[in-house]
Amino acid sequence: MSAAASARQILTRLHEVMASRMHAQGKLDRVVQIVGESLTSEVCSIYLLREGMLELFATRGLNQSAVHVTRMAIGEGLTGTIADNVETLNLAEAKAHPDFQYRPETGEDKFHSFAGVPIVYRERAVGVLCVQHVDPRRYEDVEIEALQTTAMVLSELIANAELVDEEDVLSLGGRETGPQTLTGLTLVKGLGTGQAVYHQPRVQITQVMAEDIEAERQRVYRAFDKMREQIDHLAGQAEFGVGGEHEEVLETYKMFAYDEGWSRRINEAIDSGLTAEAAIERVQQHTRMRMREIDDALLADRMHDLEDLANRLLRIVSGQLGTAASQGLRRDTILIARNLGPAELLEYDRRRLKGVILEEGSLTAHVVIVARAMGVPVLGRTQGVRGAVREGDEVLLDATAGQVTVRPSTSVSEAFAARFAKSREKQAAYAELRDVEPTTKCGTRIEVMMNAGLRDDMSALAMTGADGVGLFRTEFQFLVSATLPQRERQMKLYRDVIDAAGDKPVIFRTVDIGGDKAVPYLASDVANNDENPAMGWRALRLALEREGLMKAQARALLEAGAGRSLYVMFPMVSEVWEFDAAKAVFDEQLQFLRSKKKQVPDAIHYGAMLEVPALAEMLDLLLPKLSFLSVGTNDLTQFLFAADRANPMLAERYDWLSRPIIRFLRRVTRDTEGSGISLGVCGEMGGRRLEALALLGIGFRRLSITPAAVGPIKELICQVDLAELESAMEKFLADPGVHLRSALSDWAAQQGIEFD
Ligand code: PEP
Ligand code: MG
Repeated sequence: MSAAASARQILTRLHEVMASRMHAQGKLDRVVQIVGESLTSEVCSIYLLREGMLELFATRGLNQSAVHVTRMAIGEGLTGTIADNVETLNLAEAKAHPDFQYRPETGEDKFHSFAGVPIVYRERAVGVLCVQHVDPRRYEDVEIEALQTTAMVLSELIANAELVDEEDVLSLGGRETGPQTLTGLTLVKGLGTGQAVYHQPRVQITQVMAEDIEAERQRVYRAFDKMREQIDHLAGQAEFGVGGEHEEVLETYKMFAYDEGWSRRINEAIDSGLTAEAAIERVQQHTRMRMREIDDALLADRMHDLEDLANRLLRIVSGQLGTAASQGLRRDTILIARNLGPAELLEYDRRRLKGVILEEGSLTAHVVIVARAMGVPVLGRTQGVRGAVREGDEVLLDATAGQVTVRPSTSVSEAFAARFAKSREKQAAYAELRDVEPTTKCGTRIEVMMNAGLRDDMSALAMTGADGVGLFRTEFQFLVSATLPQRERQMKLYRDVIDAAGDKPVIFRTVDIGGDKAVPYLASDVANNDENPAMGWRALRLALEREGLMKAQARALLEAGAGRSLYVMFPMVSEVWEFDAAKAVFDEQLQFLRSKKKQVPDAIHYGAMLEVPALAEMLDLLLPKLSFLSVGTNDLTQFLFAADRANPMLAERYDWLSRPIIRFLRRVTRDTEGSGISLGVCGEMGGRRLEALALLGIGFRRLSITPAAVGPIKELICQVDLAELESAMEKFLADPGVHLRSALSDWAAQQGIEFD
């Protein structure tokens, strides 16, 4: 009989049992008989989790008096080891295994061979199915597969009959693999706790046995087609469109997606009577087992890719396509993903999202900027997170310290809670600075504005006491929309934002899409094919050519600002004529509104962002045209260093406090001096205390920063004497041997200024 046929025979018999009206215990008793007979094994036993122990629930071949008596801890004996490691054991001589433990009440001393598989439910081993034999022989692959299939059927039974207590399953987390600490790169500081949720959730298999084998086969064929199609198009998506390692991953995906062996094995599993979902999972279990035997880090990495792909296939076949955002977060959550796009992050419920852990990610990628705006801590470049964390695990995220603890012990949890409380106290202290004016010790008033992009962000203006919005990223509305936002909708948002700001100014930056802010409905022809999107057809470059887009936004802004002062800023200006052309679009719309006798803004202030180094060469020609200039240090530094801001491999390579950047910025402040133009910084750099100190020290008097940083930066400003700071910076810059970061932080320490 073929392997598939014998597996099908077991499955048919199991099917009958499962479909019968027998109670759960009766079914377990039948299952051990069927498996024992089919594998001609003297012994077949089922252990299930009860109150944290593995309890013998059913057996054929061992003493019946041991049922519900023999209990093993997780990790104890062979059974406990299988559950602990969630892996299969296949031994010709059980006693030779170091974890073997003899239980006299079972009468198992006459048996030599032993094979066992975990019964997995919600990614945890909630039981063990094992067989034993008098002869010392290893079980064959087909027999192990039969056991694994039976274990899947049992997990379905466990779910339906609630044979295992839900609390028991959750508490398993810690005991199975114990606490684990991983490190990563701080992308957004902060602390958070919650249960791990994968952005792309694992599919729960609800039906193991097929009703119609041919229909299952067709489902898998279609799913494979769809998956291959997706893989071929993946390069442009957020998950893969950013980051440095994606090409290699994509290649691996392709290799697996087109691997004939993989699809053949799934088909064979379907032949044995499994549903498409169960067949994919079965094959995956088998591969996992094989890979474990080969101890190779590189292969383990590839295994994660195959897991991703198998999960993708499962999602397609089962129709469970949504991300965790679309399913809704049910409790406080720490989200886990390889990478995310800004729009994907915005779909999550802010109240429940307590932190994000990315396997990739970099400091100035837009998803991180969005997270910062949402006040969600983010840890990036956290290697091994997908291997270490399972859905539902308790997670303590300390993004400030660059650490995450999974399945913490009680003492670790308590220490974390204490730290958390302290950090909240600090936040509260910063909140008290709301009404304090950021004035230096020497009496200079520094403008501290905040960055925003969503309607909801505006509440932070009152909470932080910022002087206004120094950068409103209008593209966020474009990113969260499925289609291009109509002019009316844009106008409404801008008007709401201006209303919410009251007397305080809001600087609206015209759309900066393209780059890592790809929108699916626009520019798919060019932007998505850009080899180098950050330097590609983005921001003003795109807007000037898609005139309709720019016109609509200009009109929306002019209408929203009717009767007030309007501040408009153009991103990525590289040459002076681009500023002129953008302003001309506004002028034209202004004329149009006037000709229609519509009310227009009382005053319009135009500004530019300095993000492209070339523009610094043209300041003498540009400044007379502007009322303000804002340095976008995120883009500026990526262009100065030729280092992609979204590439995780470069995330830690260059320092904002390095000489090229500080000297460049000092040149800008000098060239702007005396022009009467208001100069500020609106990149992430200004929101970090030591960096902000450096900026003040080279002449910047306006910072626009993330709302969470307003309190800490105000506090800093009040501690600074500008004359002393400026002369210290002068001295550091004059001496090429000085390491700027260390020198400045030593200086700050001497002044009694704290940095965390
Ligand atoms: C910048 O580049 O520094 C900036 C503020 O703009 P964004 O981060 O949106 O590109
Ligand atoms: Mg920018």
